Amino acid sequence: MFRKGNLSVKEFVAASRQIMGRLQKGDDLLLALTKECEAAGITLGEVRAIGAVSRARVGYYDQHSRQYTYVDLGMPLEILSLTGNVSVKDGRPFVHAHITLGDSDGRAFGGHLAEGTIVFAAEFVIQEYLSKERFERRFDEETGLCLWAGAKGLKSKEDENKQ
Ligand code: ZN
Repeated sequence: MFRKGNLSVKEFVAASRQIMGRLQKGDDLLLALTKECEAAGITLGEVRAIGAVSRARVGYYDQHSRQYTYVDLGMPLEILSLTGNVSVKDGRPFVHAHITLGDSDGRAFGGHLAEGTIVFAAEFVIQEYLSKERFERRFDEETGLCLWAGAKGLKSKEDENKQ
């Protein structure tokens, strides 16, 4: 079902196992979630979490320069929402998550969850999905990002015709 040209980059998935748990104080939030997926052998799924961090690092993708810029938030914050997905990059489980954080005045900050976000307390749910296709991240020329391209070196009809 994966096709180039973004006409149909989607696939039916079926809910499978779920893991629910908490991370340890001092864990790197992104690395700890990735580790949970690796330990459970989850290569496709969805991630959610709430809790608090002692500091945070979030990214913003500049669409013109095609580079991430990072914001370091060096203070305790609430995790108001963390939502993300699990797929495969370079043959390993890869967690892509976005996070919204709240400060003591009720202000919100957020962005692309980066390494360097340190857990104070965090409760997470990982929902595994099963699919006939492997959701594999590959470099995408159009955006400069690593996006889902399908697996098994899936080729579009267009690619096949070129060969
Ligand atoms: Zn992102």
